[in-house]
Amino acid sequence: KQKTLALIKPDAMEEHRDNILQEIRGSGFSVTQLKEAVLSRDMAEEFYKEQREKPFFKQLVEFMCRGPCLMLVLTKENAVEEWRLIMGPTDPEQAKETSPDSLRARFASDILHNSVHGSSNEQHAEEKIRFIFGDICSD
Ligand code: ATP
Ligand code: MG
Repeated sequence: KQKTLALIKPDAMEEHRDNILQEIRGSGFSVTQLKEAVLSRDMAEEFYKEQREKPFFKQLVEFMCRGPCLMLVLTKENAVEEWRLIMGPTDPEQAKETSPDSLRARFASDILHNSVHGSSNEQHAEEKIRFIFGDICSD
């Protein structure tokens, strides 16, 4: 079975965390690892290094370390794509049009504060899971 990394971002932790966890469990994912932590600035920069050159990079890093995130390894057939579908498009305004049932359509406030993260491909998933959880427990 495939694994993906999911994050509940700081904007969603207080109000929407339980709804998001319910959606995860109801969609047939196994949560195989889970931890809550506040990312350091260095970790947030490394985690989103692919976005380094983007004009919103500084805001993104600030946002990601402003409070705790919940970090989960989700396991399921086709987990990477399935989780991206459940999250919906990056921009909640677009999500409301094309995927009104998606998490971002329901919970995100804008394109930066968009409630959840999911790995974009299998290689990315492996790399980010190792970055967040380390090598122990790799199965
Ligand atoms: P994620 O990687 O968090 O799952 P994504 O793959 O949908 O989201 P990316 O293009 O990888 O989107 O961007 C990473 C994150 O950067 C987005 O989730 C969002 O928080 C932020 N972001 C993306 N585009 C913008 C933008 N135009 N303005 C502000 N923030 C943005
Ligand atoms: Mg991404």
